[in-house]
Amino acid sequence: MSYLLLVVEDEEQLRKMICEHFTSEGYTTIEAGNGEQALVLWKEQRPDLVILDVMLPTRSGMEVLKEIRMVDNTPVIMLTARVEEIDKLLGLEMGADDYITKPFSPRELSARVKAVMRRTNSSPNDRHVLSLGSLKVDIHRMEAYSNGHLISLTGTEFRILLIFIENPGQVFSRLQILERIYGDIYEGYERTIDTHINNLRRKMEAAFINDTVIKTVYGVGYKLVEEGK
Ligand code: CA
Repeated sequence: MSYLLLVVEDEEQLRKMICEHFTSEGYTTIEAGNGEQALVLWKEQRPDLVILDVMLPTRSGMEVLKEIRMVDNTPVIMLTARVEEIDKLLGLEMGADDYITKPFSPRELSARVKAVMRRTNSSPNDRHVLSLGSLKVDIHRMEAYSNGHLISLTGTEFRILLIFIENPGQVFSRLQILERIYGDIYEGYERTIDTHINNLRRKMEAAFINDTVIKTVYGVGYKLVEEGK
């Protein structure tokens, strides 16, 4: 299993150079040329580490870092230019794990990546698995498990479950769930969510998950909770 790196840099030549170097060292890389795209990729693929340029089009590196930190502590190494000294310090304050000043050699960056991985104790893949009680969700494989047994879910059911397990105990209204799974193109009815929720509950019960349940919050929506906690 190789580490998945997200490389965010708008200078295409530099980005390609970084990606090629890490690929040659056995990493898997995905790349983004602006902040918006970086966040989309980060949410979808949950890389093991993010190499993040500070000055980016659409959303700055600082904004991207802030959004990532609102959800979890994926290791982030910032790329900064000399003129961005203040941003650099700010980046560390905002939760970047390290930074490297341009120009740098790929070997230097690679050493930083290894050091951060060691420090944050990351091992490939383990951060892509979220769990609550006996329920486990593997983001990369888009699969859910109970005690090692695969629970067969539709794409929509998986996406709903993912919203819940990323935010345990948080209540989501039907509309919020619809918006999150369909984005702008949503044309469904809020009540269709009830059907998906019922199917999810049935499948979780069939998989003998009885410590983690989707609860109805009357008049509001649904939440995923671990019983007795
Ligand atoms: Ca830049």
